[in-house]
Amino acid sequence: METKYIFVTGGVVSSLGKGIISSSLACLLKARGLRVTIQKFDPYINIDPGTLNPYEHGECYVTVDGHEADLDLGHYERFTDIHTTRDNNVTTGRVYQSVINKEREGVYLGKTVQIIPHITDEIKRNIKALGKTGRFDYVITEIGGTVGDIESLPFLESVRQLRWELGKNAVCIHLTYVPYLRAAKELKTKPTQHSVKQLQELGIQPDILVLRTEKEIPADIRGKIARFCNVDIDAVVQSVDLPSIYEVPLLMHRQHLDELVLRKSDVPVEGEPDLAAWTHFLDRMKAADKTVTIGLVGKYVELQDAYKSINESLFQAATYSDHRLNLKYIHSEKLTDDNVAEKLGEMDGVIIAPGFGSRGIEGKFTALKYCRENDIPTFGICLGMQCMVIEFARNVLGLEDANSTEMNPNTPHNVIDLMEDQKSVTRKGGTMRLGAYTCELRLGSKIAQAYGKTEVSERHRHRFEFNDKYRGEFEAAGMACVGENPDTRLVEVVEMPKKRWYIGTQYHPEYQSTVLNPNPIFISFVKAAIAYHAEKKLEAAAENQKL
Ligand code: GLN
Repeated sequence: METKYIFVTGGVVSSLGKGIISSSLACLLKARGLRVTIQKFDPYINIDPGTLNPYEHGECYVTVDGHEADLDLGHYERFTDIHTTRDNNVTTGRVYQSVINKEREGVYLGKTVQIIPHITDEIKRNIKALGKTGRFDYVITEIGGTVGDIESLPFLESVRQLRWELGKNAVCIHLTYVPYLRAAKELKTKPTQHSVKQLQELGIQPDILVLRTEKEIPADIRGKIARFCNVDIDAVVQSVDLPSIYEVPLLMHRQHLDELVLRKSDVPVEGEPDLAAWTHFLDRMKAADKTVTIGLVGKYVELQDAYKSINESLFQAATYSDHRLNLKYIHSEKLTDDNVAEKLGEMDGVIIAPGFGSRGIEGKFTALKYCRENDIPTFGICLGMQCMVIEFARNVLGLEDANSTEMNPNTPHNVIDLMEDQKSVTRKGGTMRLGAYTCELRLGSKIAQAYGKTEVSERHRHRFEFNDKYRGEFEAAGMACVGENPDTRLVEVVEMPKKRWYIGTQYHPEYQSTVLNPNPIFISFVKAAIAYHAEKKLEAAAENQKL
């Protein structure tokens, strides 16, 4: 079949969940046996979000091919199990960079280079690039930002042109907001009407409207919106707030969003999507009646999007252990020797978060010393793993002032040091060790047991590494280097075999954990936390009996 293109735009306000709607639709189409991919076009000028502070744009997600991407690509992968690549995330900056490069190469043959047609042609070329490979039946394109933003205009103009060129092979979905005014006890449709008008002024008539709302929208109000917006009543779909984003695909299916898309793109609707595994996950999620409490020690705790993939991986792992996740954010800058027991004492497991720079780093060491000495299941990710190494060097090996050269270039014990091939790197964007690399795990190690195999591939994003010079000292004192890269011998995993569960990974397993394929290391960590919780309970009961 010819490749079909679905465009998802947003109106009224940002943060309505275009990424979740796009992911849910992809999930449904995939469950119908169709080959689907999703891509995000972001209107900002940065070449990619790799250099953005998490406060600006949440987590930076990393694809297998080492692209630093918008966090929505994480949703795409978690909902669909597809692997995205750098082709799935394009920014205004990338588009302009490519056009300007072509201009310098003389590609435009003396023409004046303009937004239309040169920028829009470049956007259209990028939108169609994945479709052209012949690997997909449906390419879903999410346009970042909100209709009315100046910077979104070239993207929307490209969608208008493509819509015209592609005819039945294009479908436009517009996501808007229907606020509920508590004082008036009324749902208000005017913002949606205005947003659709604005889209129509740009020459785009949406085929389907998805209305984000806190409250159920009655049929007469949906009818009113349909009339005002030139959309069929059955193509006005509502997206009511739900306790979990993973329920959205079923909510969309109940309102026939997948069928609508098939019909509007001239594809026969046959049978039903196979959602058995998805429903099974939701059933377990809803049935879970026990709780596992995990503490996440990091410096971006005010902004939960900064650790999006870790949160979701933990949630998936807890669900597959039939537990609810109680995730507590612990500000690393506020942790001290005096309050660490109070802040971490109740945790069943602790994660030490990834990060850059020295802010909050001492709090991470404090947390790790406490976790190691009290044998709490502990998982260090990237910077978290590097902190495990530093804390162990300082407090077990007695290497005072041991550090990473990222934090102190003059440390006498550079147990974490800049990778050799990073030493000449000065440019910031896209220059870290990025993307998926193979890692060999030591047979019999806890990590190998967690994965059930000794070779894995996980994604990276870092410049610093475990300093191999110290390997012997660490091994002898009880911290084993149990994972390494087969080509470079870089240490990728450390663990303390004598502890309940004390593991650090230089890589980020959270980038590869999906609803249908949760990452085994998160499963193993959460299981250890649950077991530790049970042990604590038994101990407390025994203590009580003695009294
Ligand atoms: N700052 C560390 C490095 O560059 C860790 C990076 C991370 O946690 N993603 O190696």
